[in-house]
Amino acid sequence: MARPDQHVGFTPLLLTLLALLMTSPSLASTTSFFTQCPNAPPGPLAKNPITACPLPGLIGVIPELESTTIQWTYPPRCLGPESLKPNGTRHDCLFTSAEFRNGHGISIIGPASITADLIAQGAFIDRPDPPAAVKRQAGKPAYRVVDVPGKGKGVVAARKVKRGEIVMVDFPSVLISTGFIMVTKPHHRRRLMRAAFNQLPEETKEAVYGLRRGAEKHLVDQIVGTNSNGVELGEEEGFVGVFVKVARINHSCRPNAYYRFSQDRLAMEVVSFRAIEEGEEITMSYVPLEMKHDERRHFLEANWGIECSCSLCRANDYDIGEAENKRRLMKEWKETLQAAKRDKFYKDAITIAQDILQVSERADLPPLLPEYHDILAELYSLKGDLPEALRYARMALNEWVRFGSLDYSELEWAREALEEIVEKDAARTRQLLGIQKAKGG
Ligand SMILES: [Zn+2]
Repeated sequence: MARPDQHVGFTPLLLTLLALLMTSPSLASTTSFFTQCPNAPPGPLAKNPITACPLPGLIGVIPELESTTIQWTYPPRCLGPESLKPNGTRHDCLFTSAEFRNGHGISIIGPASITADLIAQGAFIDRPDPPAAVKRQAGKPAYRVVDVPGKGKGVVAARKVKRGEIVMVDFPSVLISTGFIMVTKPHHRRRLMRAAFNQLPEETKEAVYGLRRGAEKHLVDQIVGTNSNGVELGEEEGFVGVFVKVARINHSCRPNAYYRFSQDRLAMEVVSFRAIEEGEEITMSYVPLEMKHDERRHFLEANWGIECSCSLCRANDYDIGEAENKRRLMKEWKETLQAAKRDKFYKDAITIAQDILQVSERADLPPLLPEYHDILAELYSLKGDLPEALRYARMALNEWVRFGSLDYSELEWAREALEEIVEKDAARTRQLLGIQKAKGG
């Protein structure tokens, strides 16, 4: 019951590439977009999000687009080799659908193979939402956009929000491959990005152009540089997406929400880490949570011009140190958890996963329960402790249902995992009964 897209460990190749990217000044300083890739939700076995960032050279396949069944609003535009920086080997195209999500529209720039895969997965089709999501949507909206003193616009809770609730759902207006950003010559890159913006339906286009702008020289960079979130599409390709509603959520180093991106539905779901009071601002961290205090302050200032005044930035040195230690510990444990699972030390992995659940609670970062309960179910099942596996699998399934996520795949995965464990348990019972019968008879 390996989950293809999430439960993947580090590979040495990725780490090497990552090291190269991080240390190469020419690449690292190419654009400020790259520095934004690390922003991704802290899932239990989530890859270090930075590895999802551009890995130039890995993508060289020019795909077949014959499987295309979607009607693009404009003819796709692809870049030729002359648009690439020296040694670049990519083939990026722009696709725009104005129909996407009932006229919200989407432009996507990246390898055509990825767009082809998304089409094949049905990501562009408006399928009916899962029943739990329909129920959630029928309830009172959880947020509203307001003016926040000193921060421009911000998002606050419009009612009391429970822990684990989906407070906002948003769809990308543009999705841009970070690999494309890295290796395309700047004027070619900007021209295609401008087209991606301008081909959007009027209302969405206006919303995108109305977003806060950074200090970059060119308009498209000002918008994408300040308002994008890192997501992963296909197997490993990092993208930045402009999500107009999510972009209104301000940063905090002690956030009360995080996001999950459903590749399945191309939906961004903002989920609360903890209960949020009515009127309280909803915040997310723009930077990896493990980042050190000084580094983080510098990073926020350099990338978003933010001088953060959240409770953690105002805390005393002791509290800052404590928070940093806990976050670093969690990160180390997550890596150890991946390694332990990979090397089949299931007992150790279970202990670590339980530890993470406990410490994250005390670190003001309550764990992402369904994700962790999924992984515990899997670990117990692998270890052969089926009653515990069943217990966690049921908990995970209930939590996914309660979430009301648009994503079918997580729910389906949890359901299949539970069925598999039930079946395994039944088989074992039959076997035991058979042995007893043989002994008794
Ligand atoms: Zn802060």
